[in-house]
Order: sequence, then C-alpha cells, then structure tokens
Amino acid sequence: MKFMRKVLPFVLACALMLSACSTNASETTAAPTAAETTAETEAGGNTFTGTAAGFHGDITVQITVDGETITDIQVIEQSETENIGAAALPTLVEEALAGQTINVDSVSGATVTSDGFRAALEAAITSAGLDVEKFSQAAGGETTEKEEVTLDTDIVVVGAGGAGLTASLSALQNGASVVLLEKQAIAGGATAMAGGGTVVTGSQILEEDGVEDTPEQLKEDMLANGHNYNDEGTLDIYVNSIGAAIDWLVDPEGGNVEYSRPATSRTISAVGRGAAVVETLMDGVESAGGQVYLATPATELIVEDGTVVGVKAENDDTVYTINAKAVILASGGFGANDELVPEEYQQYVYAGAAGATGDALAMVESLDADLINMEFVNVQPNSIVLPSGLGQYCNPGVSGAYSTSGAFLVNENGERFANEQGNAYDLVQAMKPNTANYLIMDQASFDAFNAGMENSNIYTAEDVETWLANNGSSNPATVQGETLDDLAATLNLPEGSLTAAAEAYNAAVDEGTDEFGRTLTLKLSDDGPYYAVQMWLRYYATLGGLHINDQMQVLNTSQEPIEGLYAAGEVVGGLEGDIYMGGTLFGWAVTSGYNAGTSASEAIK
Ligand SMILES: Cc1cc2nc3c(=O)[nH]c(=O)nc-3n(C[C@H](O)[C@H](O)[C@H](O)COP(=O)(O)OP(=O)(O)OC[C@H]3O[C@@H](n4cnc5c(N)ncnc54)[C@H](O)[C@@H]3O)c2cc1C
Repeated sequence: MKFMRKVLPFVLACALMLSACSTNASETTAAPTAAETTAETEAGGNTFTGTAAGFHGDITVQITVDGETITDIQVIEQSETENIGAAALPTLVEEALAGQTINVDSVSGATVTSDGFRAALEAAITSAGLDVEKFSQAAGGETTEKEEVTLDTDIVVVGAGGAGLTASLSALQNGASVVLLEKQAIAGGATAMAGGGTVVTGSQILEEDGVEDTPEQLKEDMLANGHNYNDEGTLDIYVNSIGAAIDWLVDPEGGNVEYSRPATSRTISAVGRGAAVVETLMDGVESAGGQVYLATPATELIVEDGTVVGVKAENDDTVYTINAKAVILASGGFGANDELVPEEYQQYVYAGAAGATGDALAMVESLDADLINMEFVNVQPNSIVLPSGLGQYCNPGVSGAYSTSGAFLVNENGERFANEQGNAYDLVQAMKPNTANYLIMDQASFDAFNAGMENSNIYTAEDVETWLANNGSSNPATVQGETLDDLAATLNLPEGSLTAAAEAYNAAVDEGTDEFGRTLTLKLSDDGPYYAVQMWLRYYATLGGLHINDQMQVLNTSQEPIEGLYAAGEVVGGLEGDIYMGGTLFGWAVTSGYNAGTSASEAIK
C-alpha cells in the first residue's frame, strides 16, 4: 500500500528481545488501520447503529430496517476531514442504500473513511440481526456494457484542483464552453489539502495595503530558493502575472475568493484554506455553465495530425469521447506514483493527494512533450506518520515544543546532528543520511508539542494516550521513559547516548548557542519523564513536469508548441527549482490556471 510506512525500527528489536520490552510480539507487524478496529453496535426499535474508527475518530452509522430491507442510512457521528472524508460519506451512503450492500467501492482519496464507513455499516447490520453475508455481496453483480457518449465543447480541462478550476472559470467567463473532468469523486486534489498561503507580487491588494515588492525581487528570491534550477520562462510567467491573477481571483465578478486583509507581506492567506477556495471556485464553474464530471478520469488525448482535438474519458458506466478546440491539462503532480517519483524519495513518507499519479505525463508521451526537472520532489522536515500511513506536517507541534522547554532531534545513534530551528532545506539535508530521527522532549515540551497539534485539529489528547500505550508499535511512534536511559533502551539507541546528548545540549544553553548555530535559551528538564516522537522527512509536491511557453502551451522536445494543448498547475515543471518556496505552488495553481483558461479561450476565438 502506497502510504504505509514501517513502524519504528526499535519495535523490531523489541520483537527479538521480548523480555526487555513491554510491547507484545503480535503488535509488531504493522500499524492498525480503521478497518481492523472492532466495531461497536447498539439497537433501538427498527433503527440500529454501528460504530467504527474513521480517519480522525469514530464514524457511527444508523440504519432503518423494514423486514429484510434497509430503508435509510444516516451517518450520525463523524469527524472526518472536511472536503475529503466528510465529503465522501454521502456517496458511500447513497451507494450502500441503492445497492443494499456493505460492499461499496472506496471513494478515492478517502480510503480510511470508506473502510470505517463499511465497518460501521456492517456493525449496524449485525446489530439488526440481518444476514451480513447477503449484504456483503457487491451491488448489481452482472457486468453491463458501458454506454458510449460523444460530447462537443470548446475546451476540456483535465483535473478539478486549483489550476483546473481557475482555468475552467476564466475560460467560461471569456465566453468558451467547458467540460471539466475530475477522476476523484471529490474535487480539490492537493489544493483542498493546502493551507492557502499565496505568494503575490504586483497585485492591487499589496498596493492598497502598502506592501512593497516587485516581480524582479520575487524572481530573485525564487531563483535563490530553488538554487537556480528554476526554468526562467515559467518563473517569469509567475512573477509577472500573479498580480493580475489574484486581483481576478478576489474580484466578486472573477473568482470571488476571499483572502485575509490587510496584507502584511507578499504572502496572503485564503480564508478557509485551500478547501474553501476549491468550494468557491467549483460553485463559480457550475454557475457559469461548466459541465463537471466527477469520478471520470481522462484516459487519453485525441490527436489529429499532431494537433490535440479532444480527450477520451471513462467512468464506471460511460466511455466519453470529448471533441474540443483546446485541452488544458491540470491534473496535478505525480507524488502518488512510485514509478515516477525518483527512488531516493520513496524512503520518505508521502503526504500529498491520492490523485497525484502523473496521468497527464503518460497522456503526452506520444507527442514527444518536453519534461523538465523530473528529478526534483519537494521534501520537508518535521513530519510524523499518521495511523493511516499518510505523512503529516508537525510545524505547530515543533514550534510549540522548541519555544516552551528543552527539545532536540537525535539520529539512530542518539546524537544531535543539526540546528533543529534552522532553515528547512538545511534540516532536510541533515536528516537525509539518518536511518531514523527522533524528537526528544521533556514533559513541558511534549505537552506543548501536543497542544500545537491538537489546536490545529491534527489529533486529539485521546490519540496521544493510545499511541503512548502502544509504545512505538503503531504510527505515529510515540514513546515515554522515566529516565533518558530508559528512553534510549526503548528506542534501541546506544546506552547512555541520550543522557550525553542532553548534557551537551544543556551545556550549550549556558553558552547561548551550540555547534550547529542554534540559539538556545531553554534547558531539557533534569527530571523525567521524557518522550520521543519519531520524525520523518515527507514529500507531497513534485516540481518537475511539462515545459510550457508564455501562452501556457505545452512544448515538445524541439521547443515547439503542441497545437491545442495547454497546461497549468503542478503538472507544469520548472517553476521552483529543487525546492519550493511556501505559497508559490498554491499561487502558481491559481495563476497558471487563470492564464491557461484565458489564453486557450482567446486562441479559439
Ligand atoms: C498537504 C499539502 C500542503 C500544501 N501546502 C502548500 C502551501 O502551504 N503552499 C503552497 O504554495 N503549496 C502547498 N501545497 C502544494 C499546492 O497546494 C499544490 O501544488 C497545488 O494546489 C496544485 O494544484 P493543481 O490544481 O495543479 O493540482 P491538484 O490540486 O492536485 O488538482 C489536480 C486534480 O487533477 C485530478 N486528476 C489527476 N489525474 C486526472 C485524470 N486522469 N483525469 C481527471 N482528473 C485527474 C486529481 O484528482 C486532482 O483533483 C501543498 C500540497 C499539499 C498536498
């Protein structure tokens, strides 16, 4: 399974040394998943409930029964991620009710929620005394031939994330008809998962709010950040058009998206994060007459004499041939595709969208499209692995820990190795050679770490209790020791290593700084208990992809535009160089989408 990461290496050691560890051998195989969790049931009249674990907490399903038939299904309790798991539940309910089956397909991108829903439904059916086996059969049963449908439109947009939605809306507002294809059952992709911070320059917003900046300055900063691996043509598009794109995005007659004001720097924040941006843009696309097909992946381009003239797409019951005057590829990155992600990154944990499988890159293969910067994947430090196996950033946790009491990172030898509060890029480079990284904390810094995570709704205090009880046998690996030596033993680190690291760290606090250049003011407590959380490098955005010109047309390897083919968003390579500047990928999605929609709709006029 793509997202699963192994639990701590020391758990394996525990399996070999059972007497030294409290962990029991059967716990050492893998982190538990929602589907493995025992469901609870409860009866009442002709309604029955069942509960099972979802992604963030319990999902409780209530069914109403008439004889052998389920007449209603309600989800009466859930705390799944808005716009991802929560948005998948109505689809699951509808399919289960229509098919009278537990055996509904997982909604892509919401697998853990889907597992939890099925387990809760099974528990409710068990509670009702119905035949679980009968309800476990797939709906329908017979395979029917798919309907063939042909559509004609001005523009087909592939992918309903930030880039695809802005491309669709700007094209619709410029008079084009648009078919928007999204392979997942829910729109949003990586855009819906992102914070919505957007790096802007040359916008009326910044001018009105008195923030001074120029496209030239942003370009210089992005080249420095990306270590000059950026494609300058793509970077020029961004720095010179983000201002106009954002002014359109916030305009009630344009994208109608709300950003926090006043702006205090060139990074502005979308109200309601990326998820709200997706919702607003989707409303806009639908109101402007866009035809949106969810759960309908584009499968191939239709090409005539080297010109792209449409797209083929297919869902569960229909095969579409969509003839169009232009196609905009906005299918996101390729982080979820191990065949495309360079091997060196695959040891890290993936934290991106499930739909980021690089489909468009396969679709352009026969057109000799130019791919650039395919070797660069954005890696970030400060990450844990959630029980689902998905990577999770912990910036709110680590910043709380480091500003409250002593806390530091060690490697598999129990040695400090970096300035934990330094630049993220440098910390990534320092973590890369390690086979394991642990954040060591005392009680105060551990409490602050968890408070930061809980306040960001990433997990709950109850979750922490469970993980501590699991003593590192499940993700996120979290362990406690009365002394630093106890902790080192549980982590299978060299004897005395953590005590030595803490002594050196506290001595550096007396000096005010350490050998890594970190400014230190807070000591690790002399008194236990102490805690360790295993920290990972995570990747989620990919930085390589299609090479484009200033009209957003896809170039071939002879650097000529492929007629009829445009691209926007993360599927385009080269903007960032070898690491992205926070807020510019989100900014690029909306800018390049706006540009591609405008450019393609102008070209076909
Ligand atoms: C957790 C997370 C946090 C992030 N935080 C930040 C941040 O703070 N700042 C920042 O600048 N950037 C951030 N990013 C990156 C940024 O959000 C993305 O690069 C950007 O939103 C990508 O937009 P997009 O429209 O190109 O792709 P997406 O939003 O991923 O949309 C692409 C869509 O295409 C669909 N698709 C794929 N293949 C097909 C097909 N064959 N047919 C039809 N549809 C298809 C996908 O399902 C998806 O819905 C973050 C990303 C993640 C995952």
